[in-house]
Amino acid sequence: MNQPLFRAPRGTFDLIPPRGEAVLAVREAMAEPLSRAGFGYVETPSFEDTQLFVRGVGESTDVVTKEMYSFTTRGGDDVTLRPEGTAPVVRAALENGLHRGALPVKLWYSGSFYRYERPQKGRYRHFSQVGAETLGTEDPASDAEVIVLAMDAYRALGLTGVRLVINSLGSDESRPAYRAALQDFLRRLDLDDATAKRVEVNPLRVLDDKRPEIQAALADAPVIADFLSKGDRAHHDAVRTLLADAGVAFDDDPRLVRGLDYYTRTLFEFIHDGLGAAQSAIGGGGRYDGLAELIGGPRLPSVGWALGVDRTLLAIEAEGLPLPGTAGVDVYAVPLGEAAAARLFGVVTELRRAGVRADLAVGGRGLKGAMKAADRSGAQVAIVVGERDLADGVAQVKDLGTGDQRPVPLADLVTTLSAALDS
Ligand code: AMP
Repeated sequence: MNQPLFRAPRGTFDLIPPRGEAVLAVREAMAEPLSRAGFGYVETPSFEDTQLFVRGVGESTDVVTKEMYSFTTRGGDDVTLRPEGTAPVVRAALENGLHRGALPVKLWYSGSFYRYERPQKGRYRHFSQVGAETLGTEDPASDAEVIVLAMDAYRALGLTGVRLVINSLGSDESRPAYRAALQDFLRRLDLDDATAKRVEVNPLRVLDDKRPEIQAALADAPVIADFLSKGDRAHHDAVRTLLADAGVAFDDDPRLVRGLDYYTRTLFEFIHDGLGAAQSAIGGGGRYDGLAELIGGPRLPSVGWALGVDRTLLAIEAEGLPLPGTAGVDVYAVPLGEAAAARLFGVVTELRRAGVRADLAVGGRGLKGAMKAADRSGAQVAIVVGERDLADGVAQVKDLGTGDQRPVPLADLVTTLSAALDS
C-alpha cells in the first residue's frame, strides 16, 4: 500500500469517532456547570498580537521563551497562535468595555491552543481547553466558585480520581519579602548559568523547574505560606473554608507554582494520578489580580481556570469509564429492495424529527450485511422492511438485545418507537 503523502503535524492528532464524540461530551460536561452558574460564552481569535502573551504570560516563562508559535504576517504584524486563553479573554473584556459594566463579569470559553512542546502522551502541540474566568472581583467566594464548578464537571463525567491541590502565591503585600528570601536561598545553590539568571529575573520560576536535582536542592527553600500578609492569609483561609463547606476535598501544597507569571494569591491544580507524573495536571488556574494592568488596562482582580479536554479524556480512559457521548443510534432501519428503501427513508426522517436517534442502511445491502451494520450502530431496535411487508403495510421490529421480532403497522411506527424508546 502507498504511504500517505501527508500526516498530521508532529505533536498533533486527528479526532475521529468515537473519540470525536467523547471530546464533544467532555466539553459539554465542563460547560454545563458554568452556564448553570451564569457564565457567558466568549470566543476570541486563535491568534493575537505576540506582545499580549509576552506581557501577560511573562517574558521568562517557558511558554513565552520556548513554546510559542509566532510569526510575522504578510502585513508585518507579529502574531502568535494562542498558547493559553486568559490573556486573550482579559484583552477582549477590556477592548469591549466589559469591565465598565456590572462586575464581576463571568465568562467561559472552549477552543484550541498551541504550544511548541516536546510531544508525548497527554502533551501535544495542539490541544483543547475549556476555560472559566470571573473578572472584576476580589471576593474569595469567586475563587471557591470556579473551583467547585470544575470539580462538579469532573464528577458529572464520572471521574473519581481527581485531586485538588491549592496554594496561595500571595499578593504584592507578601511577594516582595518572599521573593527576596527565595533569592537569598537560591543564590547559595550551585546552579547553571541559565538558572542563576532566572534567580535574578524571576526566582519563583525556579520552583517550577522539573529537573530532579533542582527539586532536591529546593527541599529547604522558603515557602510563601510563611510570608503571607494578614490580608492574603485571610483570603486564602476564606477560600479553603468555602471549599470545605461545599464538600470539596483539597490538599495544601505550599510548593505549588504554575507555568504562567500572572498568578497572585489563590493557585490550584486538578491532578489525576492515572496519567503519569509529567502530565498529571488535568486542569489548573488561579487568581490573577494584576493581569489587566500588565496588558495596559486598569486594575481588574480576577480568577479563573483552564481544564485540559484531552487529558480529561485520558483520565476517563485511565479510570476504565466508557467513552462519554458515544451511544450511537437507537434505531437502525434495514430496507430490502428499492421500494422499501424509499419508504424507510421517509420513516427514518420522521423518527429523527421526532427526536429519535436513527440510521438507515444505504447502498442496497443484503439482509446479513445490513444486520451486522445494525449491531455495530449500537441500536436497540432494527426495523426491517421487505417487499412482502411493504405490501402488508408493516415493518418487522426486532429487539436487538433479545432477538424478539414483531410486525408493527408502518403507519404506527414513529409513535410506537418514540414511546418504546422513551420508556
Ligand atoms: P495551563 O494553561 O498551562 O494552565 O494548562 C491548563 C490545562 O491545560 C493543563 O492542566 C492541561 O490539562 C492542559 N494542557 C496544557 N498544555 C497542554 C498540552 N501541551 N497538551 C495537552 N494538554 C495541555
